[in-house]
Amino acid sequence: MPGGWTGLVLTALVVFLISDLLLSFFGPGGATTISYTEFNNQLNKGNITKIYSKGDAIEGTLKNAEPKPDGGKGTYTEFDTQRPVFAGDNLWTTLQQQGVEVTASPVVQQRSFLANLLISLAPMLLLILVWVLLARRMAGGLGGGALGRKAPPKPVTAEAGRRTTFADVAGIDEVEAELSEVVDFLKNPQQYRRLGAKMPRGVLLSGPPGTGKTLLARAVAGEADVPFFSASASEFIEMIVGVGASRVRELFAEARKVAPAIVFIDEIDTIGRQRGSGGGMGGHDEREQTLNQILTEMDGFSGSEGVIVIAATNRADVLDPALLRPGRFDRRITVSPPDRDGRAAILRIHSRHVPLAGDADLGQLAKVTPGMTGAELANLVNEAALLAVKRRQDAVNERDLSDALEKVQLGAVRPLVMPQAERERTAYHESGHALLGMLQPGADPVRKITIVPRGRALGVTLSTPETDRYSYTEPYLRGRIIGALGGMAAEQVVYGVITTGAESDLEQVTNIARGMAGRWGMSERVGRLTAVPSDPQGAYGLSAAPTTLDAVDEEARRIVAECYDEAVRLLTEQRARLDALAAALLEAETLDEEAAYRAAGVPRKTLDQA
Ligand code: ADP
Ligand code: MG
Ligand code: ZN
Repeated sequence: MPGGWTGLVLTALVVFLISDLLLSFFGPGGATTISYTEFNNQLNKGNITKIYSKGDAIEGTLKNAEPKPDGGKGTYTEFDTQRPVFAGDNLWTTLQQQGVEVTASPVVQQRSFLANLLISLAPMLLLILVWVLLARRMAGGLGGGALGRKAPPKPVTAEAGRRTTFADVAGIDEVEAELSEVVDFLKNPQQYRRLGAKMPRGVLLSGPPGTGKTLLARAVAGEADVPFFSASASEFIEMIVGVGASRVRELFAEARKVAPAIVFIDEIDTIGRQRGSGGGMGGHDEREQTLNQILTEMDGFSGSEGVIVIAATNRADVLDPALLRPGRFDRRITVSPPDRDGRAAILRIHSRHVPLAGDADLGQLAKVTPGMTGAELANLVNEAALLAVKRRQDAVNERDLSDALEKVQLGAVRPLVMPQAERERTAYHESGHALLGMLQPGADPVRKITIVPRGRALGVTLSTPETDRYSYTEPYLRGRIIGALGGMAAEQVVYGVITTGAESDLEQVTNIARGMAGRWGMSERVGRLTAVPSDPQGAYGLSAAPTTLDAVDEEARRIVAECYDEAVRLLTEQRARLDALAAALLEAETLDEEAAYRAAGVPRKTLDQA
């Protein structure tokens, strides 16, 4: 029986149609309605053979066909009419005189037995139908939402077109290598079974968003050519209570049926957070139940069935230890943003179907995009292609790529007319950031400065590292803070007042300073311990004494205060350079690396000096 409301409505419609059909079958046929006057005329002409009456309604048959009244086409013999209540004619006498056969039935007519049965049963039938449907839904373990359809997890098998394979993944070769073992197992599980080797039941992929975790899971399924069952952990929570666990059960049951198969649970941190820790508003039990169900299912594996669970998370550090126990997600793979060669490879993959002009250099683009993830690079290529379309070119060239990069890194240009005073202030603010960035030894070089409003910002200063950075030194971090405070300091130095424009600068500064004091052991007073957890939501879960947290706060304040003084000192000392840079910026609105260093009169540091 088709479930859902459509099914119900359809059934109701069919019942209605059938009863209507039956009723009309037993009901009156297709007679022509005529006026009572016309009826009288025909009667007086002696043209009526028989009539049948029910109350004042009369149906009857003519001897000879008559043209239809009211200019209707054709003729009629069957007719019906209505006798007015006030008609004082001696109808019965006339009928007798004309020798018309008269039949009559009681005013309250008995319907046929069948019609009566149908009519009286129809509402009951409908009720029973609704009840059965509801009961089924309940029995099915609340398989769908309250009103939603019951949706068994569908394997994403050989979707229309080609499936994802490792050829679609680049820049994370070490991860691919680890996963190819899983692929091998899924391809020939007998081999492993024969030697008594057990495969990990669960593989946990962790890494920043956009690094290709979902993509990898799909690629594993594609490479091994096995069904892929995927669910996002947040789906489990959004559904009504009790559904999450049963959905998990279904997911695994389906996967077992077609094993070898992959069950993929995306964003598992939504349900897999440490029990009894932060973020426990509402849906807490639901989360726990779902998580327990996953654990139960994984424990239920005999290990040789060939169902492998892959889970992905951005936050492996907040996961419940129960998930990471041996026999569960015991294989953990970290997926990191790609390095330079990786970025070039990813750019090539995503530009496979994008015609590139001769001057478009993906290797160069990879060089200037340190820290970008696969998703960001894919987006970058797409933005460039969109620009090329807009510019009516038939290939993507260097300019499209660099404009797209600018848009991706700095945000889209906002058409905003700024008063001259605001522009000046913004120019000084950005020049402050940029100049301090240029002057800090070892800081990332300034790539671009602009006072064209973009995104939420009134201006942007972009510095990116020369090469990929994997760890940071204390002087570098201080340099970052000084640079970030540069905007505010410049306003202070030039105008003597500060504005609200520095909010996001301060957020950045706070994060770095707190990290230095509380996480990375860069403060003597706090000591070499982590007092501030990397997960802000669980801030009270970590056992740091209040005095330690106070110390972290004070130390962070001290660091920021020192850096601010240094920023103001440097800008006051370098006021001439600041003025020159701001003037150039006001003039040109956007300065690239070379122009910026030239305007400020700062020699561009080469790589080995940095
Ligand atoms: P995550 O799940 O880690 O947040 P996704 O797998 O959803 O990231 O990645 C989003 C998109 O970014 C992918 O569909 C793909 O187009 C692109 N992408 C990310 N990483 C890579 C990579 N290593 N190689 C190729 N494309 C990638
Ligand atoms: Mg994902
Ligand atoms: Zn700023």
